[in-house]
Amino acid sequence: METAVASGARDRVHILGLPVDRVDVDTAMARIAEFIRGSEPRVVVTADAAGLVLAQQDPEFAQIVRGADLVTPDSVGVLWAARRLGKPIRQRVSGVDLVDLVCAKSSELGWRVFLLGAAPGVAEMAAERLRLRHPGCNIVGTRHGFFPPESDDVVAREIAEHRPDVLFVAMGMPRQEKFIWSTRELIGAKVAMGVGGSLDVHSGRVRRAPRWVQRIGLEWLWRSLLNPRKIAKAKNLPLFLWRVLRWKG
Ligand code: UDP
Repeated sequence: METAVASGARDRVHILGLPVDRVDVDTAMARIAEFIRGSEPRVVVTADAAGLVLAQQDPEFAQIVRGADLVTPDSVGVLWAARRLGKPIRQRVSGVDLVDLVCAKSSELGWRVFLLGAAPGVAEMAAERLRLRHPGCNIVGTRHGFFPPESDDVVAREIAEHRPDVLFVAMGMPRQEKFIWSTRELIGAKVAMGVGGSLDVHSGRVRRAPRWVQRIGLEWLWRSLLNPRKIAKAKNLPLFLWRVLRWKG
């Protein structure tokens, strides 16, 4: 697979009319490091199949996906669609993994990380566990994700005071992406990334599926069965498969 980090050109596949970058975990991390060295606030979307269906139904969200600086392939459904379109992607690049890898780099390079989202107390628990896993990881602040959109600017100003390099927003799609898009200049983080349920996972509140389930690509099914709230999202999967099969581009 060609990588496009050095040239700045993007190697992408369009799925249901929406761009997904053909990155693996290493090239995604290289891109994020490049963003952090730069001067612009950059937006990263972690796109799963349900998210792409959602974007098809929500023009504002679709615009954000199109305008994002990096859209990672965050589900086996997305990998399947890319392969079907003749532009295979090597591996899944999930929000859970990127939070972990950015924190590992943060302990090495001092990147300032802010965790926003999930229920009260969860981001703090996630921060605690990430610091244990990656001693010296520079998490400069946390905040829960239950506030109305009218308060976005107030919350953004609070976050800006912590001067994060990387802002993770775990408030579910498309709420998290809309927050990121409208506040990115105000907050000024070099990288702002929507990461869905990742803080629940890193806090230890929600367990990841066993490795063998992850390997066969059924983590979403495992987590849906344990969390009925996710079933609504899982229902988008057959719709995704159907639309990709019928897609004429
Ligand atoms: N959440 C939040 N604010 C809200 C609604 C949800 O912070 O107004 C959190 C919720 O607690 C959970 C996350 O957003 O931690 C969404 O997780 P989910 O796994 O449903 O997200 P997905 O990856 O499926 O978009």
